[in-house]
Amino acid sequence: MKFFKKMAIIFIATLSPTAFAQTKDSLVQELAENVYAVSLFNYTSLVVVGEEDVLISDTANSYRAKVLKSEIAKITDNPVKKIVLTHEHFDHVGGTKIFPDAEVIAHSNILEYEELDPLGMLPEVIHKTFEKSLTIEMGTTSVELHHFGAADGLAVAVIYLPKEKVAVSADMYVDEGLNPGVFLTDTNMLGSRALLTKLANWDLNYAINVHSKRLDLVPLVATQKFYDDLYDLVLPEIKAQLRADPSRLVPRILEMSETLKMPKYESWQNYQDLPVYIRKMSFAIIHGG
Ligand SMILES: [Zn+2]
Repeated sequence: MKFFKKMAIIFIATLSPTAFAQTKDSLVQELAENVYAVSLFNYTSLVVVGEEDVLISDTANSYRAKVLKSEIAKITDNPVKKIVLTHEHFDHVGGTKIFPDAEVIAHSNILEYEELDPLGMLPEVIHKTFEKSLTIEMGTTSVELHHFGAADGLAVAVIYLPKEKVAVSADMYVDEGLNPGVFLTDTNMLGSRALLTKLANWDLNYAINVHSKRLDLVPLVATQKFYDDLYDLVLPEIKAQLRADPSRLVPRILEMSETLKMPKYESWQNYQDLPVYIRKMSFAIIHGG
């Protein structure tokens, strides 16, 4: 590490989180020793500096990956040797080739998409996969990867740094209100509820949410509560319909999506998409998808 870089990091290490550097397009925040959140073009990557190498998450695409590489070079001279993919969605997994020496690490379900990628966004090689969990030691930082089942996609890897109390998740919640219903195309509502519940119960200082620059826990906790309330709203209705007439279950769900309301959330952005949430949660309950 060059001397001035080391001094710069020592100088700011006592503040948290620290805006390490900010330009029009990028924001680098230091979360703990050797741990950074680098926000660029609507994606935030975790950057963990090890003794001789660097671990990052979600390169997103080649254009962003090139800028990310130059931002990381301002933090450390160590090369990026590990890229963790938070899930298989193609807008998150592109650009890994900008780091040709890096090992790409993902949940094993990502391999299901190798033949289903017309734009060629998936890395050519996934070097390491895991099933339930995997721990990667990066100098002073332990990087845990956890899979809790389908959530936004099937190959979901939640990143957790237990010492630094940092978690990284993708596409589970937005800064304000509800994620627009149109973005729930590949969301398993039960899996998302389970994941949010895990995250909300971890002892965290920071929650990196890939499409946001925010690191606080407020949106995470609020969305977790919303998912719980949504589940508690629709489950008794579905159980009642199953007892009364299972053959009318699907029409009943469509009707519920128009009639059930959640007044507590009326002021939330995109509350008008509540019917999408009710349908998706109900269908997750009756057939899993
Ligand atoms: Zn996604």
